[in-house]
Amino acid sequence: MLRDGDRGVVLQRDGKTYAIAPHLPCGLVTPGLLRKLADAADKYGATLKVTSAERIALVGIKPEDVDAIWAALGEKPGYMVGNRVRSVKACPGTHFCKRARQDSLGVGLELDKRYIGRKTPGKMKLGVSGCANQCAETAIKDIGLVGGARGWLVLVGGNGGTCPRLAKALTDEEVSTERALELVEQVMAFYEKTAQPDERMGEMITRVGMTAMKKVLGLV
Ligand code: SF4
Repeated sequence: MLRDGDRGVVLQRDGKTYAIAPHLPCGLVTPGLLRKLADAADKYGATLKVTSAERIALVGIKPEDVDAIWAALGEKPGYMVGNRVRSVKACPGTHFCKRARQDSLGVGLELDKRYIGRKTPGKMKLGVSGCANQCAETAIKDIGLVGGARGWLVLVGGNGGTCPRLAKALTDEEVSTERALELVEQVMAFYEKTAQPDERMGEMITRVGMTAMKKVLGLV
């Protein structure tokens, strides 16, 4: 029996089989990897499931096949469990979307490079949307960036789950990409220093107060 997280597995409902999913930065996947995923699904009798975190999971695999599948894929596992930055979800942004005001994909990839897998007090999800439509569900991310005409709105403290919270704006005005990335780092550092074990960003902000956090960050 494997534990959740061992070699990237998550135990499934039947108590016998597992899911694995390679890390796909902001959901980008190559045709080559898609072929490998399809071949592995065929060979090992798995189901392919696109997940809400922009991953493609191989579901229903036997524990004895896990290593062979990772070898065939030649990929690193995504971060599906544990207290860490699990996902950075980004919409297509100015690369593809006609409504986009900012480069959400580019900034999402930068956040992925900086933070994916980083250990944090509670689980963390990041999101980047290219406009106010928020297709990357930025309002329910621990940290979300939303593109506007003049830059980025930085949102903090959102989450889904049994006690859903909508993220709140950290600044009154949109900020540049450089400033947004700086604020993300400052919020991460504050969270790492201040949060209790297993406490998510939104819970921490409710406990310490948004104004108190802004004061520490020099925003009020
Ligand atoms: S959030 Fe805006 S830019 Fe991103 S996909 Fe949706 S409509 Fe397009």
